[in-house]
Amino acid sequence: PFELKGKSVYVAGHRGMVGSAIARRLEREDVELVTVDRREVDLCNQAAVFDWFAKTRPQVIFLAAAKVGGIVANNTLRAEFIYDNIAIAANVIQAAHQNEAEKLMFLGSSCIYPKLAPQPLREDSVLTGPLEPTNEPYAIAKIAGIKMVEAFRSQYARDFISVMPTNIYGPGDNYHPELSHVVAALIRRFHEAKASGAQNVVVWGTGTPRREFLYVDDMADACVHLMKTYSDAELVNIGVGDDIPIAEFARVVAEIVGYSGKISFDTSRPDGTPRKLLDVSRLAKLGWRATMPLEHGLSLAYQSYLESLEGE
Ligand code: GDP
Repeated sequence: PFELKGKSVYVAGHRGMVGSAIARRLEREDVELVTVDRREVDLCNQAAVFDWFAKTRPQVIFLAAAKVGGIVANNTLRAEFIYDNIAIAANVIQAAHQNEAEKLMFLGSSCIYPKLAPQPLREDSVLTGPLEPTNEPYAIAKIAGIKMVEAFRSQYARDFISVMPTNIYGPGDNYHPELSHVVAALIRRFHEAKASGAQNVVVWGTGTPRREFLYVDDMADACVHLMKTYSDAELVNIGVGDDIPIAEFARVVAEIVGYSGKISFDTSRPDGTPRKLLDVSRLAKLGWRATMPLEHGLSLAYQSYLESLEGE
C-alpha cells in the first residue's frame, strides 16, 4: 500500500463539492494538506501552474478541479467545458510529472462511457462507441485526462491513477437553477415551492432516465482508500451500484423537503443519456463500498442547502 502519512498532499479544486470533501476527509489522515486559491493560481494557466508546482512540489495530488455543471451547463457552455477541463488536466498532470510527484489521482466522470454501452458500465467500455452529445465536450476532456494518466504511467512509470465517479451530491453543491445538476436543482425547486405555497413543480425531461447518486463524503472516502491501496493502469468506477428513475427520485426529494403538491415534466428539456449505472465490482474487489443511504444523504444535503440560505 501507498503511505500517505507525513506527505504533502495537494487537493486541486478544494473549493468544489468533491475537492472540499476530500480535504475534510484528509483531516483524519496524518498529512500536510496543501491548497491554493484560484486567484493565486488559475489551473488553466500553464505558467502559473508550473511555477507554483516547482515552488511547492506536493508529493501527492488529488486532481478534483474541473469546470462542472448539469445537463444545460454542459450543453450550452461547450467551449468552456472542453477548454478548461483539458487545460486543467494537461497542466496539473504535466506539472506533477516534472516535479516527480509520488502519486496522482485524476477524477473523471461516468459520462466518459459511450451513450449506449452495456449497463452497468464497465471500466473497459471507454472508447467503444459514440458519447452522449449533451456532455461530449466535457467527456472528451476527461478522456484526454485519462489518456494522459495512462501515457505518463506507461512511458515514465509514474504512479498516476484515474477514478470515474458517478453523479455526486451533498454539501457544497452548486444550486444554480439552470446550471446545476439534478439533485441540487430539485432540492432548491421543491424548497422554493414549499416556501411559496406553489402547487406545481416542474422536473426536466420525461422522468424516465435513470441515475445513480453517490454522497460526496462516500466519494471522498473512496478516493482516499484508492489513493492508499490502488496502483494500476485500469480505471476504477466509484458508485453505489444502484440507480433510480428521475421521476421516482423527484418524489423522494419532494418528500424529504416536505413538498406535497403536484410534479410535472417538461419534455422540452433534455433527458441526456438514458442510463449510466456504474459497474462497481472492481471497486468492491478493492475493498470499498458506499455506506450512505440515499434518503439520509439527501436530508443532509437539504440541511446544508438550508444553512447556505441562512448565510445569504
Ligand atoms: P447528467 O446526469 O449528466 O444528465 O446531469 P444532470 O444531473 O444535469 O441531469 C440528470 C437527469 O435529471 C437528466 O435526465 C435531466 O433531464 C434530469 N433533470 C430533471 N430535472 C432537472 C433539473 O431541474 N436540473 C437538471 N440539471 N437536471 C434535471
